Amino acid sequence: VELAANIGSSAEAETAVRQGADGVGLFRTEFLFMNAPAMPGEEEQFRAYQEAARMMEGRPVIIRTMDIGGDKELPYLQLPKEANPFLGYRAIRVGLVRQELLRTQLRAVLRASAFGTVKVMFPMISGLQEWRQARAILTEVQAELRQEGIRFDEKMEVGIMVEIPSAAVLAELFASEVDFFSIGTNDLVQYTVAADRMNEHVAHLYDYFHPAVLQLIRTVIEASHAAGKWTGMCGSMAGDPLAAPLLLGLGLDEWSMEASGLSRMKERLAGLDRQECRELAKRVLRLDTPQAVRQALEEFHSAQKAVV
Ligand code: PEP
Ligand code: MG
Repeated sequence: VELAANIGSSAEAETAVRQGADGVGLFRTEFLFMNAPAMPGEEEQFRAYQEAARMMEGRPVIIRTMDIGGDKELPYLQLPKEANPFLGYRAIRVGLVRQELLRTQLRAVLRASAFGTVKVMFPMISGLQEWRQARAILTEVQAELRQEGIRFDEKMEVGIMVEIPSAAVLAELFASEVDFFSIGTNDLVQYTVAADRMNEHVAHLYDYFHPAVLQLIRTVIEASHAAGKWTGMCGSMAGDPLAAPLLLGLGLDEWSMEASGLSRMKERLAGLDRQECRELAKRVLRLDTPQAVRQALEEFHSAQKAVV
């Protein structure tokens, strides 16, 4: 399996390498935009993505197109104030309307792909139509660059974030068209159990060990493998050592987390037996509450420590 890092700037790629990351599983590009007084242009974005690719020295870098909106404001874009920003105008929904923003970003990403192993993924995809629209824009931008004689990786992998339950449920349909999935549990949990990830009053409901979330994760991984594709995870569940045996048992291919958690996770995964984890996953997927799941995982963990 691959252990990758989440980064929010090209500078953080250096930390990722130092902590032993096999790649970058999530480059949150919106910070590039949020830390600027005005919209960064193609050149500025290109330099940031190229720098990250260069620092990773051939290891994969998954660049997520900007996820603005929701809790992430961008004053110079003047997005409307909304009563339910997490259910509103956000991420790819903005990119498909303000297409000049998405096209500029995709040009920069493609140009950077000539300097390393760059992949791109679209956030907040809820259905096939959105994915196909985003993919079509990428195809147009690729044609544009070809015409201009600008180099890029013709084989760049293109994936989607699975962070809306509708995308997870339809994973089998997506799997024949995308190159990979990356499960964003931070959002997937809040949309599955309808509990705002920022609201303390419903925090007790927000749990990635909820059986419904686990079933969605299983659906996605199985659908990707059936189509010969792969699935990563970049939400905070991927950084939880307690979840590691379960995710390994479900067949997760790539873990992406804060760089500081990498060495501990490496150790945790190294001590696991795949077959044992498969049996654990089978057992856990039959449990009916997050509490029961957590308890089973804790017991598995303690039993293992006892053996070591
Ligand atoms: C997620 O939703 O799990 C995710 C990784 O994206 P973000 O936290 O940036 O919304
Ligand atoms: Mg998200």
